[in-house]
This record gives sequence, C-alpha cells and structure tokens, in this order.
Amino acid sequence: MITRRSLPGAVPRRGPEPASGSSKGERRAPARSRHATRSTDPGPRTHPRRPTTGEGRFDFHLHLSQYWPEPLVNRYDLDLELSVHSLLREMDANGIADGLLLQLQTAPDVEATLAEADRMYRESGGRLWHTSTVDPTRGVEEVARAVGLWEQNPSLRAIKLYPGYRRFYPHDVRLEPVYRFAAEHRIPVLFHQGDTLDPLGMIKYARPIELDEVAVEHRNVRFVLCHLGNPWVEEAAEVVYKNENVYTDTSGLVWSPRMPHFDRQVQRATRRMENAFAAMGTVDRVLYGSDWPLESLSLATGMIEALDFSAAEKAQILGGNARRLLARRP
Ligand SMILES: [Zn+2]
Repeated sequence: MITRRSLPGAVPRRGPEPASGSSKGERRAPARSRHATRSTDPGPRTHPRRPTTGEGRFDFHLHLSQYWPEPLVNRYDLDLELSVHSLLREMDANGIADGLLLQLQTAPDVEATLAEADRMYRESGGRLWHTSTVDPTRGVEEVARAVGLWEQNPSLRAIKLYPGYRRFYPHDVRLEPVYRFAAEHRIPVLFHQGDTLDPLGMIKYARPIELDEVAVEHRNVRFVLCHLGNPWVEEAAEVVYKNENVYTDTSGLVWSPRMPHFDRQVQRATRRMENAFAAMGTVDRVLYGSDWPLESLSLATGMIEALDFSAAEKAQILGGNARRLLARRP
C-alpha cells in the first residue's frame, strides 16, 4: 500500500516527532506545487489588513521552535523561512492579529518551553501567545514540577499535551495535577489528536473517544481536541457535540502541498469540516488553526472562508471563539 510516507517528498502533515524518533522525512526536494508557490506569495486574492492586537482573526495552532523536528522538510514550502518575522509577515497578509504558539514535547524540559515562549512573545510584539507542555510519562515528579513553574508564570495561556507521540491517554492519572491547575486558572488544555508524524507514535492514544472520560470527569476544564481528530473526524464531532467543555481546531486536515492530488485533499477537508460542524450543531466551539509551518496561512484561512456557513459563523471560527476561550479571568 502506498502511504504518504513512501511518496517522494512526502511530508507528514502535522505535529512534531520526538527527537529520538526515527526519521521518515524525504530529504530530496520535490518540485514545488502550484499551491506552495501561491501560498508563499499571497497574490491578489488576499487583502493585507493591518491587524489590531486584541481583536480580529486568531490562529489557534502555530508552531515555531528550535526543537521543531526535521525543519528542512516539515514546512509547506521548502523555501519558507522559519522565523518570527516570516510568520508575522504571513499573518499580516491574511489578516491574522494573534496566535497561539504551541510548544513542543521535543523540548528538553518545561523550562525550555517557557523560555522559548517568552522570547517569541517579545520578538512578536505580543502577538504569539505563551503555551507550555509536559510529558507525564516522565513521571509524577515532572508533572508536579511543571505545574509549579506554570503557577509562577501569569503569561501562560494554554497547555498542549501530546498523547500518541508520548504514549499516554488523556485520562492518565498522572495528569490530574494538570487538570486541577487548568481548572483553577481557566487555562485550556489542548490535545494532539489523530495521526502522528512520528511512525513510532501510537495513534490508539490519540483517538477522540479517549478524551470523553476526562471531559466528563473535569467539567470545569475546557479541552481542545486538535486536528478535528483526523482521521476520526466523526468521532471527534461526537465528543465535541456531547461535551460542552470540548472544543476542536481545524488544523492539519490536509497533507503537504507536495503530495499528489492536493486539490482533492483540500476539497475533501472542506466537506469533512462542513459535515462535522453540522453534526455538532454549532460552530461555537470550533477554532481556526493552521499548524503552520505545515500549512500556509492563506490555505488554512481560505478553507474556512470556503465553508458553506454564514459570514458571522466563519468570523466566530476565525477568531471570536478563540478570544472567548482564552479570555483571562477578570
Ligand atoms: Zn501541530
């Protein structure tokens, strides 16, 4: 069977792999597709808009890190520069005011995630917001230490966890202190969901159904089921529909623009989103996210704009819901 990982230039579509993981990325540069070219230069279809921090579009799923795996291939365009400047330029071109910079489980420790979050927040003029992560398989002491550090950090806006990559379930008891912290400080907890870029990951840990238990046990914590659970999109829609404290983001639904049949992937992703949101019966808990640098911001926002939903609903997805979710406690 042909998989994306065996195709020339195939770049798995999202998420970092552990530094120790084996590399499946093809290093040979394939021909750039029409999409990659168009994404680099937004062209006349997009209208640069001066973003205003505090309102406007918000990207819930961005990555930029010195710990990003395989940086030479893990980007939608092989010429894309991975820097704060490059990311902000693309945000400006797509009217995105701010975004959540999701720290990686490949960072050596919690301190490293907080240091990087601080640096990028400053470099971006406050537009790339702070997050952190912890790996519970490193033990309960590590989790306690992480929570202690987060308690000292009032800038923290969200926690991202990586089941699948690190082989733990969301309902792992070692995570209880994380959920208590999240409830107390009204900090959302994001879960990587679905396919892992690392072939050594185990996707049974990253199925949306595994989130249901913590959503029920921790009704006062807001959870984000990332990537719409791809490929388990219907399962994700059910978990979001059933649990009012579960949100989802729209990142990572297409693979690399260097993959064959990319146009069809984009069409399929759009239909899948429409069907999932119809099943949920609401878009109030849908968050636009790109998974940049794996997806261009023009592609990611363009897919939302193409949805068969009202302008008001699309505005909610593109920023309103995120700002409501991330609002600090008064
Ligand atoms: Zn991601």
